[in-house]
Amino acid sequence: MFDKILIANRGEIALRILRACKELGISTVAVHSTADADAMHVRLADESVCIGPPPSKDSYLNIPALLAACEITGADAVHPGYGFLSENARFAEILSDHNLHFIGPKAEHIRLMGDKIEAKKTAKRLGIPVVPGSDGAVTPDQDAMVIAKKIGFPVLVKAAAGGGGRGMKVAHTEADLQLALTTAANEAKSAFGDASVYLEKYLQKPRHIEIQVLGDGRGGAIHLGERDCSLQRRHQKVWEEGPSPVLDAAARAKIGNTVGKAMQELKYIGVGTVEFLYEDGEFYFIEMNTRIQVEHPVTEMITGIDLVLEQIRIAAGGDLPTTQDAVVINGHSIECRVNAENPVSFRPSPGKILQYHPPGGLGVRIDSAVYQGYVIPPYYDSLVGKLIVHGKTRVECLMRLRRALDEMVVDGIETTLPLFRALVREPAIIDGDYHIHWLEQYLVGQKAD
Ligand code: ADP
Repeated sequence: MFDKILIANRGEIALRILRACKELGISTVAVHSTADADAMHVRLADESVCIGPPPSKDSYLNIPALLAACEITGADAVHPGYGFLSENARFAEILSDHNLHFIGPKAEHIRLMGDKIEAKKTAKRLGIPVVPGSDGAVTPDQDAMVIAKKIGFPVLVKAAAGGGGRGMKVAHTEADLQLALTTAANEAKSAFGDASVYLEKYLQKPRHIEIQVLGDGRGGAIHLGERDCSLQRRHQKVWEEGPSPVLDAAARAKIGNTVGKAMQELKYIGVGTVEFLYEDGEFYFIEMNTRIQVEHPVTEMITGIDLVLEQIRIAAGGDLPTTQDAVVINGHSIECRVNAENPVSFRPSPGKILQYHPPGGLGVRIDSAVYQGYVIPPYYDSLVGKLIVHGKTRVECLMRLRRALDEMVVDGIETTLPLFRALVREPAIIDGDYHIHWLEQYLVGQKAD
């Protein structure tokens, strides 16, 4: 096992990793920018190192500073969390060159899945169903129109290097295609430094359903069921739940086993998520995330498996925590991502938290790094915290979520709590009857009222 882990992240996920380390008896090193000197992860870690000024590129993305922090503190492993350097294959390689463990998959798998075109080809080869689309990137000498017509409109132009919903444009008709191609390519070039784009059939009312996997790197892999993340705004997940209201045990086992087998064949190590769109009973692979995800607590609540702790154990050479047959999905869980944003305009609302009261009680979990008096800096994401609720059934879970949301107090800044309080009372949400465009349509309706 590792002696000392450096946590190359901030906010709630840094705290989440720190908790797993403490339970495992591993010493922790927090790193922070000058803007985060008072942050909770810094206060709770055994040691801390300031790695630079507020902008992420000068601090949390600053590889030389992180290496120096490892050197100074004698850390033997680095946990990257999510975002920042978590899916940077080069970072994993550099750590290994310095005899440091990267708590994550092999660099080759990060690289493979980071290129969405390669990822899709790999998925296809491994027997995972994919969205119909172009065979790889659309090159200038190819006639994109011919490919698009073959797929059938509407089509989606996507960036090969995409992430966070950027570099994605829909062409509803033939007339839209050229503009969609150039805007997506320009956006991809400026966001990722790579203008390559590919085409996919644009699914009209799919759900976003993702499968959590865990691999030991030696050909052993299990799946831990699914999370339904269909409630999204600008391709960003807002509310996640598991199990999905639309999957039965047979459908879950079928897609889960397909994904599990694929991970065994890849000899994948650590945690990963294979993301699908789901429409009319069919799954379509969109991408794989080779890291711990924001919404991982949903799976923890319904399986009882501590994903971050297992991630660390496995990175240190440990075995899978259980066999596939022994994985039991127990009850229902919902996560709300509470952001420091105006609940109507979604304008960021950084600033000082004057009052903070997290809800409690049976089946209620808060993953957050804020406290009363904490000042949310304007430089990073606007996540205040995740409210995660568990119940024996979806009905019980919704009841519990309703009262937990009503109990929660975050004053001094604007948050998206009012949005969740409304959503949890919406008939479509109560019925589980929503798709990936539902939330944006609902928000347009709210503005019109
Ligand atoms: P990113 O890596 O930028 O997050 P993804 O491929 O994961 O991109 O897609 C993000 C979201 O975009 C999905 O959850 C879904 O809402 C939407 N999306 C992606 N591909 C399609 C598609 N073929 N049809 C319809 N919506 C899509």
